[in-house]
Amino acid sequence: MDKETYTFQTEVGRLLDIVAHSLYSHKEIFLRELISNASDACDRLRYDALTNPDLIAGDSDFAVTLSRDRTARTLSVADNGIGMNHDDLVETLGTIARSGTQAFLDRLTGDASKDMALIGQFGVGFYSSFMVSKSVEVLTRRAGEDQAWRWTSDGKGQFTVEAAERPARGTTVTLHLADAEDEFLEEARVRQIVKTYSDHIGIPVVLEDGDKRETLNTASALWTRPKSEIDADQYKEFYHHVGHTFDDPWLVLHNSVEGVLSYSNLLFVPSTAPFDLFHPERKQHVKLYIKRVFITDDSDALLPGYLRFLRGVVDSEDLPLNISRETIQHDPKIAKIRSGLIKRVLGELGKKADKAPDEYGTFWDNFGAVLKEGIYEDYDNREALMGLARFQSTRDEGLVGLDDYVSRMRDGQDAIYYITGDDLEHVGRSPQLEGFKARGIEVLLLTDAVDEFWIPAVASYKDKPFRSVTASGADLAKVAPAETPDEPTDKAESADAAGLDALIAALKEALGEAVKDVRASERLTDSPVCLIAEEGDMDMHLERLLRQHRQLGAGLAIKRILEINPSHPLIRRLAEVAAAGDGAPPLTDAAHLLLDQARIIEGEPVEDPVAFARRLAAVMERGLTTPA
Ligand code: ADP
Ligand code: MG
Repeated sequence: MDKETYTFQTEVGRLLDIVAHSLYSHKEIFLRELISNASDACDRLRYDALTNPDLIAGDSDFAVTLSRDRTARTLSVADNGIGMNHDDLVETLGTIARSGTQAFLDRLTGDASKDMALIGQFGVGFYSSFMVSKSVEVLTRRAGEDQAWRWTSDGKGQFTVEAAERPARGTTVTLHLADAEDEFLEEARVRQIVKTYSDHIGIPVVLEDGDKRETLNTASALWTRPKSEIDADQYKEFYHHVGHTFDDPWLVLHNSVEGVLSYSNLLFVPSTAPFDLFHPERKQHVKLYIKRVFITDDSDALLPGYLRFLRGVVDSEDLPLNISRETIQHDPKIAKIRSGLIKRVLGELGKKADKAPDEYGTFWDNFGAVLKEGIYEDYDNREALMGLARFQSTRDEGLVGLDDYVSRMRDGQDAIYYITGDDLEHVGRSPQLEGFKARGIEVLLLTDAVDEFWIPAVASYKDKPFRSVTASGADLAKVAPAETPDEPTDKAESADAAGLDALIAALKEALGEAVKDVRASERLTDSPVCLIAEEGDMDMHLERLLRQHRQLGAGLAIKRILEINPSHPLIRRLAEVAAAGDGAPPLTDAAHLLLDQARIIEGEPVEDPVAFARRLAAVMERGLTTPA
């Protein structure tokens, strides 16, 4: 086959552009990336060899070998891992398969300092070689195949692939260093980079110089070493390698469990939310090893979906090496490890929440919405997860937990009140909150879509039911208004009972089928009206969410209750008009305008905008008429 020329996928082109303009302050990380890939390639071959030992017959000592040629000004990184064939090469070294790539590129601003932080988080992997190279050559041969291939590129948009010779399986990446990059030919510099970034790699990283071969790293899997011998930087570098992430770990959990079932775990909670957290094709990112052999990093069996933000490694001595990626799913030992891991992770999060609430708040902002999925998915750990949950509330003093909330409940208050919506600012100004604020009753402000699902699933916490402030059934009268000692709250003057009854009757008549009911409200103090859901009916925010996602037919509107505020001047005045019994046209207009107003506040469309505008104009016009 002749030499073929390919063009990089557009995303790679953009990434290479960024790399060329060298956003990285630490160019030397290219070496970490290449060593990391070499080590991954050995891991993958070791796994394949479990079922096909011939693949590694004659050469089962995995290693990464670094060599330099001062005259040619090249640095190469070689491995005896799985290697790549023609199609692997074209597919993996011409594209970025990682989920979230597009989202990442979209977020780049072109402002170097801002983008730097982003790209540091995303990582450019193999393509980082172009930060220091004029051109890069990859000579590779896939284990079990005879034909080798050479890939070359100058990182400017195209690459070539041609048939080549390589005596054995594996991959050699050779960098033709750019003019200013001679430092990477220095032995001391290479040694220092490997020690800093790649010491944790489980196989030897060897520096070759003529006949001399020297291992530069510790070369034992980091999680097998005693905690006391590992420092924070080593944990961090391992986290970068294993998690393909580039931030700092927020929490490190390194333990070994001895017993009937022995395993160790080295798990990390990231300090920033990964791009693919809510991506539909998101994967787990914790690698399962058995007796130091990498088995899989894509199993739902090891950890539940609501812990998908974790990165790291779990290694067990007690699982059979012949376990397949498929049988893991049903293995009882894996299930045991899973429940042990969940308990440990939740336990450690709980400690953080107690000891460092501010730091925990940062974690919660990143991953709270994910963890809440566990509340309805994982019945066994529901109590623990609810204890870990944090919420914004009308108290406005940062995040609150349910235990705090319950301990502050007012005399006569018998439910945990909440309101759901799309964003805090909007939700916090909802009229339905007024009466609760006036009585000093705290209300949780819930703005994650997942809130609509776990609340109905759990229904209560420590025997206190959850109750939406936008649903009927709240018994506010049982709680005394919040009074400050020197400023007793005035009971606002209310419309008289007969007038109110007349008004309610008139509104019902005018609105007919448009509402389920019209009632005097206890929950309003400042606004004239609001909508609420009948107890047991679907929450209004959920209805909107479902409609947005087309999960609810357009014709299927659920009727709501219109509540009116008897002490609002407008309602009082309307009650007088209703009592006088001569107000048919103004009352009909008012009824529809009140309902439309309540809908607008709720974020719902006005049903008939033309009629709304006509009525509004008529009422304004009447209002402007100077009395005779
Ligand atoms: P990542 O390591 O995050 O997948 P990289 O850009 O570092 O991203 O590498 C891209 C892909 O190229 C790897 O996933 C792998 O399939 C392939 N690759 C890179 N280096 C090697 C190697 N030394 N041996 C085999 N495959 C490799
Ligand atoms: Mg990589």
